Amino acid sequence: MRQFQCYIDGRFEDGEARFESVDPATGAPWAQMPESRAGDVGRAVNAAHDALYGNGPWARMTATQRGKLLYRLADLVAANALRLADIETRDTGKIIRETSAQIAYVADYYRYYAGLADKIEGAYLPIDKPDMDVWLRREPVGVVAAIVPWNSQLFLAAVKIGPALAAGCTLVVKASEDGPGPLLEFARLVDEAGFPAGVVNIVTGFGPTCGTALTTHPKVAHIAFTGGADTARHIVRGSAENLASTSLELGGKSPLLVFADADLDSAANAQIAGIFAATGQSCVAASRLIVERSIKDRFLEILSAKAQAIRIGSPLLMETEVGPLATERQRRHIETLVGASLDAGARLVTGGSAPEGPGYFYRPTILDCDDVHSPSMDREFFGPVLSVVSFETEAEALALANDTPYGLASGIFTQNLTRAHRLMKSIRAGIVWVNTYRAVSPIAPFGGSGLSGDGREGGIEAALGYTRTKTIWLRT
Ligand code: NAD
Repeated sequence: MRQFQCYIDGRFEDGEARFESVDPATGAPWAQMPESRAGDVGRAVNAAHDALYGNGPWARMTATQRGKLLYRLADLVAANALRLADIETRDTGKIIRETSAQIAYVADYYRYYAGLADKIEGAYLPIDKPDMDVWLRREPVGVVAAIVPWNSQLFLAAVKIGPALAAGCTLVVKASEDGPGPLLEFARLVDEAGFPAGVVNIVTGFGPTCGTALTTHPKVAHIAFTGGADTARHIVRGSAENLASTSLELGGKSPLLVFADADLDSAANAQIAGIFAATGQSCVAASRLIVERSIKDRFLEILSAKAQAIRIGSPLLMETEVGPLATERQRRHIETLVGASLDAGARLVTGGSAPEGPGYFYRPTILDCDDVHSPSMDREFFGPVLSVVSFETEAEALALANDTPYGLASGIFTQNLTRAHRLMKSIRAGIVWVNTYRAVSPIAPFGGSGLSGDGREGGIEAALGYTRTKTIWLRT
């Protein structure tokens, strides 16, 4: 069985205990993972603290030198993309087509933040005192605890590690216990890139032990968290003791609005990819289709045909379009929620069951929820299930889109750009995609509001989030 190690203070270690990681495509263990507990986590945080505030090289490096290390890391990620993609696919079930494509832009994120490192500028303030000079310095916020879920781990870690290092912080990254392999392997590239010991530490383990030890550690200044709302509440409560700041990237129940004048083929492709990519395990999954009533039946026919044509199979094959869910727990959650929705009166358009055989597969599913109060409209599946409702007026469409405590992503398909402009201002969501869905770029911030959290990742804003301003007064 494949063995992985965690990375603490520049050394690879086995962890206080070990646990087995399961291949979701077969349901069988395939690798042994280190389980970090409070002792490992404490050493990792201390190492990050020493690297930042001790006499080591990191604290003395210029921003340009930090940027050069990040460029080297980006090159190593690109050069090792296939190996990383293979491990991510094995460990999480995410299809190889997606993991290999995503790792290419993970490298782009590191490159973007490499270039940004020496552009995080301070300021001189022209205050009204002739004998006083006042400067602002942007300093690293401190030791960062970065916590990620299993889906897109390398990406979700990159959008924390990149800006935090550009800002001069040090980190302890906690990989998810469900499929930590890709991040633990990535640690080898951090080491090879030449970051000084303690600057980036990568551990893994379970939420209540490893996660809690990390987020409640008194030397952690900032917690960058991606995951579920319940975990976020727990972390925020725990962070109150040390008053660490938090940045939260949580779930979603994102609406896709399709108007009768839309290019239906393009809207259908966006909807299919929007909900079934990553087997629906995506925070921005377009899980609520809000479609104009006059085209609903026709649009559902197109979607249903496309959903049934999706190739489900081994995630390691390039032709596979939908792989397994990451865990058995995740599949049970989806089965329960689909069952409750059907009990509430939702109509099954397609899917709604698991194929025969091993692994945690679930068929792409569409539920027609018109005229019923279906739990599938409110609760996040984090799986391949689309819920559909229809509308007659633009106002109705907007009300349906905003009828959620989440506020992460949204999509609008219409040829009427005046309408699109009206809606993009009124939709409560951190991202609005018009006549497209799921586009991302290192330059564009990403994040939500409400139950989707308050963080912004990507762009300059994210890097500034890892800094604090120091005001310096000098009598001249
Ligand atoms: P989760 O909240 O259960 O776990 C996420 C991480 O938090 C894991 O590493 C876990 O070990 C850790 N954790 C759990 N309990 C903890 C605790 N008490 N203290 C500290 N850490 C703890 O989430 P999940 O089920 O693994 O992931 C799915 C969720 O993540 C979904 O809601 C999804 O929408 C969300 N997500 C959001 C984004 C985004 O960018 N907004 C991206 C991907 C996923």
